[in-house]
Amino acid sequence: MIFTGRAGGLPTAIAQGVVHLCILVALATLLCRIQARRATLEQSERHYRLIFDTLSVAILEHDFSAVAARIAQLRKGGVSDIRNHVGNHPEFVAAMRKLVKITDMNAAALAMLGVGSKAEFLARMCGFFSETDDSFSECIIAIGERRPLFQVETHVLPIHGPPRQVVVAFGLGPDISLDRVPGSLLDVSHRRALERQLLQKRDQLAHAERTGALAAMSAMIAHELNQPMAAIQSYADAARRWMSRNPPDLRETSLALAGIVEGVDHARTVMERVRALVGSSRIDLAEVELDGVLLTTVALMRCEAAETGTRLVMIPTTGDTLSVMGDRILLKQIFVNLITNAIHAMLNSPPEQRMVTLSLERRDDSALVTVADQGPGWDELDSGKEFDTFFTTKKNGMGLGLHICRTAVECHGGTLSRRNAEWGGAIVEISIPLSPFHQRTGPAADSVKDSHKSPFLFGV
Ligand code: ADP
Repeated sequence: MIFTGRAGGLPTAIAQGVVHLCILVALATLLCRIQARRATLEQSERHYRLIFDTLSVAILEHDFSAVAARIAQLRKGGVSDIRNHVGNHPEFVAAMRKLVKITDMNAAALAMLGVGSKAEFLARMCGFFSETDDSFSECIIAIGERRPLFQVETHVLPIHGPPRQVVVAFGLGPDISLDRVPGSLLDVSHRRALERQLLQKRDQLAHAERTGALAAMSAMIAHELNQPMAAIQSYADAARRWMSRNPPDLRETSLALAGIVEGVDHARTVMERVRALVGSSRIDLAEVELDGVLLTTVALMRCEAAETGTRLVMIPTTGDTLSVMGDRILLKQIFVNLITNAIHAMLNSPPEQRMVTLSLERRDDSALVTVADQGPGWDELDSGKEFDTFFTTKKNGMGLGLHICRTAVECHGGTLSRRNAEWGGAIVEISIPLSPFHQRTGPAADSVKDSHKSPFLFGV
């Protein structure tokens, strides 16, 4: 029995001992785990605090749990569309605003709001946020949706100074504990002020550009009116002379008066075209025979050329008449400007050298007009600056002629280039695509009604 008793008692005691040992081991393991977990949590908290306290971005820690509970209650009560509910119940939004608690804030947040301590912040918390801030409605919806990232631009009201524009960002995802939600506040007031200034400057610039464009347009009109005004003046002088004869020559006077009327009409159309050229109105293109336009322009310029003893020579086109899709008035103005420049360029040249030669020829599918003079040629130092608005080397120049020419040529889908001739003069070449309806007809003169010494030589 004793043995039996001894033999039966020992294994039981051993078994009990083993069980106790196992329990002890399990408890010790559990304790270790709990301790390890606590250590991890503590480390994580220290880490969080370090970030929270040292970050230069303002952070406010929010407790949204009461708001979330109210939303859950609403859902239980059958409200499924929280957005709709928020939109239709401003009193609900106001009540929710009161349920949000700010539980902590970092030094950067205190500095942004101009408060010295957390206690001071908590004492006057409501004063920092606007009661009419619409962004809070969206925040309630984001809490209801447990949006992983909610970001909104709003403003806060510091103790001193103007409101600050801030971008607030929260993480509200399902894994975030809503009783402790850190929200960052990024002050974008300076950036927004700069953006406003930039917009203001852009407006001012646009205004200055409009004013500048208007000034340029006025200057261009004034520039282009020079020639028609000079023509009107000479017709008026002629009319006066014919009238002062004894007896007055009424037929010639009437012709001169007709010239004045024509000149005024021309001036008006020139003005319209320049406005269209630099403005936004459309220029209507029609089929125009370039030969005719050139001959008319040369006839028109003969007086000015004669005054300076300049010969205008037009080399006749070999073969076909060349037509382009263009605006007759604008094309005429291009040639008027180029001939005027050529005449001016040769003012200091010996009289026998003063000659402007115009030629027109076909180059592939384009018409090529060349205006050549025998002046000093292009100053290579200016290298293309001549086409800039208001660039001039003349005492009374406006620096617009070439710019107008190039713009007008480009309006015709063409190009304008300049080069120096081997003999030293300046050459301008204009290439304009031929009209698709270009017909191989005989030579035509637009109107060379006025008298000239030979069909292609004008001036002296
Ligand atoms: P502006 O005639 O009022 O000066 P333009 O735009 O017509 O304005 O010409 C700009 C400049 O280009 C002139 O001042 C002159 O220096 C140069 N230029 C124009 N045409 C010629 C030319 N045929 N020969 C040499 N230089 C020229």
